[in-house]
Amino acid sequence: MNTVVNYETNDTIAIITLNSPPVNGLGHPVRQAIQQAFKQALADDAIKAMVITSSGKIFCGGADVREFGSPLATADPILPELFNQLEASPKPIIAAINGLALGGGCELALACDYRIAHASAKMGLPEVKLGLIPGAGGTQRLPRVAGVETALQMITSGEPISAEQALANGVIDSLVDKDSDFLQTVTDYAKTLGMEGAVKSCANLSIDTQALPDNVFDDFRKSIARKTRGFLAPECAIKAVEAACRMPFNEGLLFEKELFIQCLNSPQARAQQHLFFAAGAATKVPGIDPKTPIRQIKQVAIIGSGTMGGGIAMNFLNAGIETTILDLNAEALTRGLGVVRKNYDFSAKRGRMTEAQVEERMALLKSTTDYSDLADMDLVIEAVFEKMEVKKAVFSALDKVCKPGAILASNTSTLDLDEIASATSRPSDVIGLHFFSPANVMKLLEIVRGEKTANDVLVTTLKLAKTIRKIPAISGNCWGFIGNRILEPYAREAVRLILEGASPAQVDKVLTDFGLAMGLPSMIDLAGIDIGYWVRQAEVDKYYSQDPAYQAVCDKLCELKRYGQKTGRGFYIYEGRDKKEDPEVMELAAELAKQHGVTQRDISDQEILERTIYMLINEGAQVLEEGVSYRSGDIDIVYCNGYGFPAYRGGPMQYADEIGLQTVVDSLEKYRESLGEYGEQWFKPAPLLKKLASEGKSLKDV
Ligand code: NAD
Repeated sequence: MNTVVNYETNDTIAIITLNSPPVNGLGHPVRQAIQQAFKQALADDAIKAMVITSSGKIFCGGADVREFGSPLATADPILPELFNQLEASPKPIIAAINGLALGGGCELALACDYRIAHASAKMGLPEVKLGLIPGAGGTQRLPRVAGVETALQMITSGEPISAEQALANGVIDSLVDKDSDFLQTVTDYAKTLGMEGAVKSCANLSIDTQALPDNVFDDFRKSIARKTRGFLAPECAIKAVEAACRMPFNEGLLFEKELFIQCLNSPQARAQQHLFFAAGAATKVPGIDPKTPIRQIKQVAIIGSGTMGGGIAMNFLNAGIETTILDLNAEALTRGLGVVRKNYDFSAKRGRMTEAQVEERMALLKSTTDYSDLADMDLVIEAVFEKMEVKKAVFSALDKVCKPGAILASNTSTLDLDEIASATSRPSDVIGLHFFSPANVMKLLEIVRGEKTANDVLVTTLKLAKTIRKIPAISGNCWGFIGNRILEPYAREAVRLILEGASPAQVDKVLTDFGLAMGLPSMIDLAGIDIGYWVRQAEVDKYYSQDPAYQAVCDKLCELKRYGQKTGRGFYIYEGRDKKEDPEVMELAAELAKQHGVTQRDISDQEILERTIYMLINEGAQVLEEGVSYRSGDIDIVYCNGYGFPAYRGGPMQYADEIGLQTVVDSLEKYRESLGEYGEQWFKPAPLLKKLASEGKSLKDV
């Protein structure tokens, strides 16, 4: 018997134990071994029933993602076939779900006649997160076993449910509490099953469609529309569950297969799988041993109690870490603490946490106006005004009071981390931890590696990201790091296009139709047009795009005190939550265009798309070439988790690989020529992009 699956008997029961660490992935050897064990149990007349369980903590993590795209993925027996064989078994099979059952692991359990779970188990079908639907019968079995609504919820969300929820929804038949001997309990139960009537094949179950609420599918579609806008897989999942109501089981399986293949071959599945692997790769630093001993982080301080400070603090409080906020302005401090309390109270009201949990977190929160209170901190994160001299003063103060070995981090968005570090006597302890607003919600953490940042500081913060449930990406030290640096030329084009004759609404629409959470004009209105204006006035970003014509529209709006949402007028006019177009902005743009010698014209949607999105790609290639980013996937992680880039496109770099780098280069060259001096200045393709395109390679190959 293959060791990836063990076969034992206990009286009349065959116990088939998955034994393929780390997750019992259903790769070819495991599939073969399950089939072999199953046949052995069938052939043995003494065996009356089978139990399938696992030797580890995880029942089964599903298909082996490493096999994706390789011939092994389709080697006999393929998963759907194996599960059909199990289901057709004349002897009853019980899934003894001793831990997490995900994807194919959950489908394995569904193909069994009975499902008994340990109280700690969880079950889920996360395929949509990889741009897929369950393809081994899950979409047909789950609605038959647990009903249409549970199936829709589980398959389209991809979120696992607890054993308790699984019992309540009928996904499992029973639950074994934590104090009982799990396998013994299941085996004893198996012995009570007589052969007669013990086999419960899904093939014989049909769904009572009369009992379903009217319009159940359309209502469900509406309920998830905002979250799943643009994604192919959730809609395919709904169609598959609809089919389960309409078609006999075997036809439903064929229909599921068709939809599965449609998803599998889509650019979306490639994009989402790219992001899945990129997130794993992003936690590794070339040349640094991930086993490097880390520093202990038990006490954290945040400097600055403004927009970012409180949100950053909440991440640590949520992880049970004692956190102190320091602000020199006592009023700002009180206000900041109040915002934290308000956010938690809101979560409690929404039922996302209990009152007791709110109090637990608030009890971990301390505040001070005195730097000497920070002497024992393991990590300090500075989030004060974005001004170099202010930051340097803070770091110099920290250098004086903090204990040796404390990590000193800055949340700066654009400033030179090495210069900030130079204000201390310990630049190797200094690192950038760039959170995104709102910092308690946004998943991305850009970790900025300074020239002198110590390896263990980097590894510690990568581990810490996991503790506070952020998705990290490492950036080198340059203006704006990965995210804001690439954003800049993209923003330049979006605003320049308005000067050339596009309306803010047209620019927004092209970008949101592409899948971005928000178009650039709306994003600037939200952030505040004044922010960029003051940054430009202070000349802290001399680095980039000092093109007077492109700045003109924003600068003018700013001079008119139209700062965006906060003043009720920016690129748009805001009335409460509604926004409408502002014809004055177009008149203003026309006037400014004249002043700057720019000829206005009709701009096509395609031009807007290419000039903005291809700028992200071009600057991304530059960032990659300079070594600011280690991998193209890191840039994609930043964009999809911090800048609202659609996950189904996999990030700007993956999108470029998908459409072909030559397409991007050709388009940039086209605008370089057609836009005259402006084109010559800003539309030169990055050398790396040109080189890879000419070699027929991808950004992923770098
Ligand atoms: P903010 O103006 O809302 O808050 C800054 C706080 O720092 C104020 O409460 C101020 O009293 C305090 N402060 C100023 N000098 C101080 C000092 N010497 N010691 C202690 N406290 C001091 O600013 P913010 O929007 O929270 O931004 C903070 C940092 O985070 C900036 O570097 C910014 O670039 C960065 N950032 C901001 C955002 C965002 O969307 N707001 C996003 C990412 C990063």
